[in-house]
Amino acid sequence: MNSEEKIERMLDIIRDEILPLTECEVKRGNHVFGGAIIRPDTMTTVIVGSNNRMENPLIHGEIDTLTRFFKLPVRPKADELIFLATHDPCSMCASAIAWAGFREIWYLFDYADVVERFGMSVDLEIYRELFGTNGVKSENKFFKKYSARKAIEESSDPDRYAEELEEIEKRYAALEVAKFDYPGTLDG
Ligand SMILES: [Zn+2]
Repeated sequence: MNSEEKIERMLDIIRDEILPLTECEVKRGNHVFGGAIIRPDTMTTVIVGSNNRMENPLIHGEIDTLTRFFKLPVRPKADELIFLATHDPCSMCASAIAWAGFREIWYLFDYADVVERFGMSVDLEIYRELFGTNGVKSENKFFKKYSARKAIEESSDPDRYAEELEEIEKRYAALEVAKFDYPGTLDG
């Protein structure tokens, strides 16, 4: 499978497998973030997940995906799989993905999108306030992290993805996220 097909499959997985789950979960008061674990040879999913903060505020989309993955009685090895996050993972999730043993991470929406399109500034604030950084290193000893959008922009035919990307963006924009009490900060 070439890199164009790989990116296209990741968009398909977001549109056809993660988003339907997220659309249900958002109606239950959960947030929009989701994930998928993918076999690289066929680009088919092992499992998908979506935020479940109503059960526990720590169950971000990636944590839900990892939890479902480790509940599977039989599963491939994490280091042979791709972790796809709809949004660039927060510090907790990036660490969890590293702890779980994944080596290849992809995401669609970046931190600026998370703040601007999704009105969620806490991820970036935690990186800055707790760690003095604006995110994890894309290349480190544990994994490599790639932006699907950047790969699209750098591909030989970015228009190939335009329609599907627009559909995905529209469906995310249409999600009505309920108000939720996050922990707040020392200064209120
Ligand atoms: Zn997270």
